Amino acid sequence: MSPATMNTAFANPFDLTGKVAMVTGSRAGLGQAIAVALSQAGACIVGVDRGPADETRAAIEAQGGIFLPVTADLATTAGLPAIVQAALDRFGALDILVNNAGIIRRADALDFTEEDWDAVVDVNLKSAFFLAQAAARVMLAGGRGGKIINIASMLSFQGGIRVASYTSAKSGLMGLTKLLACEWAAKGINVNAIAPGYMATNNTAPLRADAERNAQILARIPAGRWGAPADLGGAAIFLASEASAYVHGITIPVDGGWLAR
Ligand code: NAP
Repeated sequence: MSPATMNTAFANPFDLTGKVAMVTGSRAGLGQAIAVALSQAGACIVGVDRGPADETRAAIEAQGGIFLPVTADLATTAGLPAIVQAALDRFGALDILVNNAGIIRRADALDFTEEDWDAVVDVNLKSAFFLAQAAARVMLAGGRGGKIINIASMLSFQGGIRVASYTSAKSGLMGLTKLLACEWAAKGINVNAIAPGYMATNNTAPLRADAERNAQILARIPAGRWGAPADLGGAAIFLASEASAYVHGITIPVDGGWLAR
């Protein structure tokens, strides 16, 4: 069998042992589940959060993993190089970046404020790009290449209502994922995205609290349930690992079939 047919390095193509994975917004919700999953696959985790990520740290350490907390506010780009440097200082490398941190603001488009526009775009799109840039510089300088995973949304594909800045940022993030893949694929960095469907986290608490919206959403999900944060683990490990070596610029929906409907 030729090497092109069988990759003998693939004893376990999902193994992340020896890799360093940075996850933004790791202290709750989807970021926490992604951090725990990447740790289960063997990666050391750098969690980037505004405050203590004690629960995430405890979960990772309980399964024998290593967690480095880095405090940063991703509302501004000022601290981004220092975040990457913190990973280098501790581990000497950065292999995987998951741009997960995100916020949402809801108002009718006619009433939407510039403050609600800027706040969401700054965290969800601007900081994601500049952190990817800082990470890619380190990944390329280290000669190991890397994996960048952006957390997109159903609203990368669809319009939604009352979330003008969120839809714009998440649609932009899917476009940015393709652009970065085109620029960096040949350099050894895979850039891809995951688009979670409707997942039960703080971010969606107002939707689940609204009985009518909750029923509308549930009726449209073929899987018949809200997603759990842990549902993202498999896609995250896939995109972070050698299993996705030839996968570039895609956004994988993990949505219980929402987009298929
Ligand atoms: P979440 O529970 O609200 O978690 C968001 C995370 O981002 C938190 O850890 C939060 O930190 C962090 N964050 C927000 N602003 C930050 C800032 N300025 N600096 C640093 N960290 C910041 O929401 P989630 O549902 O897990 O969302 C995670 C990602 O998935 C987001 O990008 C979201 O848009 C996306 N997403 C979620 C769903 C869903 O159904 N839940 C669907 C599609 C996409 P704090 O704890 O400090 O606030």
